[in-house]
Amino acid sequence: MARSPKDTGATSMPRTIDAHRIAVVGGGIGGLVAAYWLAKSGARVTVYEASDQLGGLGTFFQYRNVFLERFYHCMLPSDRHLLGVLRELGLEDQIYWKETSFGFMRDGRLYGLNTPLELLQFSPLSLADRIRVGLTGLWGSVCSSKGLDDVTCVEWLSRLSGRRAFEIFWKPMLQAKFGDRYHEVPALWFWTRFNREKGGGKSECKGYIHGGYRRIIDTLADSIKAHGGTVKLQAPVEKLDLAEDGLLTVHVAQDTPEVFDRAVITAPIFFLRKAMANGRLASVAGQIDTEIDMQGVVNAVLMLRRGFTKHYWVATIDEETPFQGIVESTTLLEKTDTAGVHLAYLMNYVHRTEPRFHQSDAEILEAYVAGLKRLFPDFQDEDVIDRFVFRAPFVEPLYTTGYQQRKPPTVLLSGKLYLATTTQVYPEVTSWNGTVGLVRKVIDELLAEK
Ligand SMILES: Cc1cc2nc3c(=O)[nH]c(=O)nc-3n(C[C@H](O)[C@H](O)[C@H](O)COP(=O)(O)OP(=O)(O)OC[C@H]3O[C@@H](n4cnc5c(N)ncnc54)[C@H](O)[C@@H]3O)c2cc1C
Repeated sequence: MARSPKDTGATSMPRTIDAHRIAVVGGGIGGLVAAYWLAKSGARVTVYEASDQLGGLGTFFQYRNVFLERFYHCMLPSDRHLLGVLRELGLEDQIYWKETSFGFMRDGRLYGLNTPLELLQFSPLSLADRIRVGLTGLWGSVCSSKGLDDVTCVEWLSRLSGRRAFEIFWKPMLQAKFGDRYHEVPALWFWTRFNREKGGGKSECKGYIHGGYRRIIDTLADSIKAHGGTVKLQAPVEKLDLAEDGLLTVHVAQDTPEVFDRAVITAPIFFLRKAMANGRLASVAGQIDTEIDMQGVVNAVLMLRRGFTKHYWVATIDEETPFQGIVESTTLLEKTDTAGVHLAYLMNYVHRTEPRFHQSDAEILEAYVAGLKRLFPDFQDEDVIDRFVFRAPFVEPLYTTGYQQRKPPTVLLSGKLYLATTTQVYPEVTSWNGTVGLVRKVIDELLAEK
């Protein structure tokens, strides 16, 4: 699929290129990177994005003179797939790094949990339990991941840290992410996450890019177009079918269906079954396990006159607090990237069927601000300059043991239909890095099946 020397990248494509029209469904980081690499390889790519903006879960909104992420985003030094693409795009020198820290609030007290000494001062646990939690962390960073997909986090962490420490320390953090499905999550999820965050025991360091994640999204979109690709917004794919001549048809609302040689699906899997029903691809969709479900999120962004803590992330997990964590991204972002205000993201991971997911923005903000006042008694309404609420129904799979075997295949129909979604990133952490790594694998498979 090498680009022909005669190819102008726009109108008069030679037959060899024309024979490789590829549809990419979804314009999040997965779809954009897939389209970028395919267009670079000489394919004629069309990206279909359902919403009016690219970026998916990493998308942005304008606030004053800056563009902020709807959901807090940062990168880690171990994000080698993502950093590789940023290098390829010439954006590497726009990334800046800072040492960041993690805090844990319990019974109105804030504990730093970044050094062995801080862990030893974590009084909600007995001294013996603090030592066991520390040893769990140490063991997690050196032990093999073998077999951990078949053991639950509950079992593994209780065995290593002890039942009491599990209840007080680990369980709230698992519940924060997975709600009452926490007890099914495999230990492998914890293991990869822990090792990504800690980078093998080194101090915590996070990265961000000048101009925000929008800069990455825009650069990818521009590169796709520069290589002759097309990006369609407000183009939700409703039907995917296989014509008699073996070509794929992509249907978007009232538009005339378009014909492709191949397609890469990066949109959440839930639309696929419907999109492929009653056609030649109906049996293909059957390869995706219907039991796979995903967690959602309701997240508020507050623009504040002052910050709360010195930590990037503070876990605030108790019965009375309506969010499970505060990300104060101002501890990482430069002032020029925040329009000079303090930014706090309050996140609540919640399933899309739960009433909390459907509360109005006003109800959510009222509850979150009340929760903040309880945690920080000197916090006042006047501290808030602006506020926004964003929701997403499909963030991360609700993993169960043995997920490694159940995750959907990357090749749905050889030589035709490929899948690269968040449901397949595991055991890598759900992140831009995990998605880019998965997409690289899928594109390599697609190009090999030329
Ligand atoms: C609160 C929160 C915090 C996060 N923090 C971080 C972080 O700090 N660092 C990090 O790396 N990652 C973070 N992530 C995870 C990261 O955002 C995701 O892993 C990543 O964006 C997934 O990308 P994707 O392209 O696979 O999917 P998505 O971003 O979900 O993109 C899928 C796209 O498909 C589109 N689509 C859906 N249906 C259709 C259709 N029928 N036709 C066409 N298009 C369709 C959607 O509109 C969407 O744009 C965070 C996520 C959340 C929610």
